[in-house]
Amino acid sequence: MERIGVGLIGTGFMGKCHAMAYGAVRAVYGDVPVIDRVALCDVEAGHAARCASAWGFARSTTDWRDLLADPAIDLVSITSPNGLHREMAVAALEAGKHVWCEKPMALTMADAQAMTDAAAKSGKATALGYAYLQNPALQEARRLIAAGGIGTPFDFRGSVDEDYMADPALPWSWRLKAKEAGLGTLGDLTVHLISLARTLMGEIAGLTALVETVHSERPLPGGGTAKVENDDIAHALVRFASGARGTLASSRVAHGRKNGLRIEVHGSKGMLWLDNERMNELNLYIADGPPESRGFRRILSGPLHGDYARLCPAPGHGLGFNELKVIELAELLKAIRGESSRSIGFADGLKIEAVIHAFARSAATGAWVKPD
Ligand code: NAD
Repeated sequence: MERIGVGLIGTGFMGKCHAMAYGAVRAVYGDVPVIDRVALCDVEAGHAARCASAWGFARSTTDWRDLLADPAIDLVSITSPNGLHREMAVAALEAGKHVWCEKPMALTMADAQAMTDAAAKSGKATALGYAYLQNPALQEARRLIAAGGIGTPFDFRGSVDEDYMADPALPWSWRLKAKEAGLGTLGDLTVHLISLARTLMGEIAGLTALVETVHSERPLPGGGTAKVENDDIAHALVRFASGARGTLASSRVAHGRKNGLRIEVHGSKGMLWLDNERMNELNLYIADGPPESRGFRRILSGPLHGDYARLCPAPGHGLGFNELKVIELAELLKAIRGESSRSIGFADGLKIEAVIHAFARSAATGAWVKPD
């Protein structure tokens, strides 16, 4: 495929990230199709038109079904709130489009399953917004573990903390409403942590969880308060299918943490850790050499790691979140061409959704549960 027509639904935080990725991917990779930015959609006509003009899309619409009906569009980005993902993704697949959908997949397992079934039936490529998997430092961690660099990995410690809801006076938003957002920190943050955990350690086979809302009421913009309908905090003790164990902790009410996605993998010969707030650094400890000289190595990301060289020839200069979205798009374009790809398609994404819903079931019953 020499050219690919794209449509974008939603023009908020993620909409702009997708738009920037569409604008950059051919300049970065060279060997990908020409991207034709055909149409974008948002609910307010003036805003949609301004975004289309600024982001290089030929036209705008307020009706996402009109966008799906456009034969010039081969690939659709879905960056709308979670509650719309199922309807939009299934319709896009039925219209014969490839789909790049933001995470979490949907509100419920049934919705995520329907999306997965539609993807399988369509034969089209799908990708979810698990950008942190594309971080060259994470890719290097994955390579090192697979090469036996830290011996047998037996323990995973992961946490993901942000403070975007830490202030109890912050007002109501769609993210706090079960019908629009589904789960809370589990859908927003824990899914990212699970995406990294399963990439480095394999699938999670069972867990016991504690899931709680800390600030149970929030002010409404027009006065009064409303009940927060989903979780602020989610912690779990997990068992991987490999027999390894681990802990996963998430919070959206963690003052001071901005992108506090931190992972540690403990192995029989060493240990590695990385922290997304310093996403261009991988820290590695190897238990060899004279004990008095041992210590962590801080490996700065560079052209030898993951897809870093595509974006920058100089080590230590650093990539950022938006560049990870460019890599994520390049992986999806590989999947569209039928090549092997690191994209998390809907079938893989369903496994991540199964884990967050297992958290919720375990927290409700106090039981040890298996994701299914
Ligand atoms: P946002 O509120 O900034 O943007 C959502 C956009 O969707 C808005 O422009 C809104 O007007 C538009 N929209 C709503 N209903 C629509 C409709 N019917 N038709 C067309 N457009 C519609 O939200 P966001 O932060 O961009 O989050 C969007 C999605 O991205 C969510 O699923 C969220 O979980 C996900 N997200 C992913 C990451 C990541 O790291 N991958 C980060 C943030 C958000």
